[in-house]
Amino acid sequence: MSKRQANPATPRKRASQVSAEPVPERVPRRGRGKAGARRREADFIVIGAGSGGVAAARRAAAHGARVILVERDAVGGTCVNRGCVPKKMLSYGAGLAAILSGCLSHTGAREDWGDAIVRVDAEVARLNVVYTERLQQAGVTLLHGEARLGAPGEVHVGDEILQARRILLATGAAPRRLPVPGGELACSSDDIFTWKSLPASLAVVGGGYIAVEQASILARFGVKVDLLVRGERLLPHFDHDLAAALHDALVAQGIRIHLNAEVTLLAAANGAVEVCYRPRGGTEGGNGNQGSGRTESLRAQAVLAAIGRVAHSDGLGLEALDVRRGTRGGIAVDRQLRTSVRGLYAVGDATDGPQLTPVAIAQGRWLADRLFGRRGDRADFDYIPFAVFCEPAIASVGLSEAAAAEAAGKAERIRTVVKRFVSLENRFGGSEQASLVKLVINARSGRVLGAHMMDGAAPEIIQAFAVALRLGVKEHHLETTVRLHPTVAEELFG
Ligand code: NDP
Repeated sequence: MSKRQANPATPRKRASQVSAEPVPERVPRRGRGKAGARRREADFIVIGAGSGGVAAARRAAAHGARVILVERDAVGGTCVNRGCVPKKMLSYGAGLAAILSGCLSHTGAREDWGDAIVRVDAEVARLNVVYTERLQQAGVTLLHGEARLGAPGEVHVGDEILQARRILLATGAAPRRLPVPGGELACSSDDIFTWKSLPASLAVVGGGYIAVEQASILARFGVKVDLLVRGERLLPHFDHDLAAALHDALVAQGIRIHLNAEVTLLAAANGAVEVCYRPRGGTEGGNGNQGSGRTESLRAQAVLAAIGRVAHSDGLGLEALDVRRGTRGGIAVDRQLRTSVRGLYAVGDATDGPQLTPVAIAQGRWLADRLFGRRGDRADFDYIPFAVFCEPAIASVGLSEAAAAEAAGKAERIRTVVKRFVSLENRFGGSEQASLVKLVINARSGRVLGAHMMDGAAPEIIQAFAVALRLGVKEHHLETTVRLHPTVAEELFG
């Protein structure tokens, strides 16, 4: 969006212009040793003020518990500061740019990175303040410092020893580093939100959520993007038709996607980075890309590694307490979110569960209810809606066709309905980009097992559709529900 088109009634603020009050208590890093340690007691200590930790702390305080929440960085965690919020705002910016560059091409309408980042920073700063205020209103004591588990029931923060019968680890996760020679030359998704200007070209390593979202967003901001995916398709956990449609859409936007490309080396090269890769499973010495082993390379001004996130647990003192790990390296918890140590719980990205903000929040609230209040209703994690905020966005709930066929035992027991259409929004923008709707249905009962969409509106529609799926919606319910026209959602209704 150009500056001229911004709403003049809502002046933009730089992050520094947004009030930073109120300030949490700060605990110095180095302590005076145990003899001089100050002790504080609480009912519940929460380590980590991200989505899960804040939700648990507020809910526990609402039940009357004395809560101390410890955070070493900004309140709000990955979601607010380095994840969902800044990413979604940039994705809006990229989407707006896509529409405007189509229908206002004669004006040269184009999203500007510097302008977009100022708006993102202001919103992140606003949320930091709002989160802090809400915690204080709830009566939660917020300590700023590095937490380490001591003896059971103890947490050390600087020169303080905090004591509580119940302790929650909500420490989140951090980007996994690229494990190849020169891997340190790659940046992570955390870094992108600090960029003041954009590289002209970017090699993105990974084929999951972050790789696809950032490749799509940054390409819309004018960066020349190469996406290096070691697998044979994008987003392997999504339905194959959806992933294939998205692949084609991204290629049509100029993103160069290299499948089966295993990155083996990064090397600095005259202010750029040389990225060496070879076909996955190939051996040295062959030729051609598919199935051979010849190493190829490309050069980009920057490299983004988006190859998963690992639970934050270094320096927490988990080993001394013998806290068990899960198969993927996160903290192992049972259905009650209990770790292997009595009185110690974990939620969110710090565990091996789905690394999603709403899951962490649901877990945090449920745990606080169970520990300090009534027994809360557990969220239904069988019907988690998923979205990738690329352009066009994709969203899913329920089973993919492949997963449904596997669960049913035979592919014939599953039926699918697939529709491709160009939305009015795209037509208005002069784009031929097709949207996609796919329903996976139990052929015998007519029950809808999965819904998958690609369209800018897909995440909003799938969120609402998740309720229908949970309640067992059947195809005839969709056919006999009056559609709202003209919408993209109506395409789901037969
Ligand atoms: P993902 O797990 O989504 O994807 C990781 C990708 O990196 C896969 O394609 C994987 O390939 C590849 N990979 C792993 N190791 C290597 C390697 N050594 N070399 C090359 N490629 C590699 O991780 P992300 O980092 O994208 O995101 C982390 C998590 O954050 C997600 O799982 C999601 O839960 C959450 N998230 C959710 C978002 C949303 O809800 N919209 C947005 C952003 C993040 P392979 O499949 O072969 O293992």
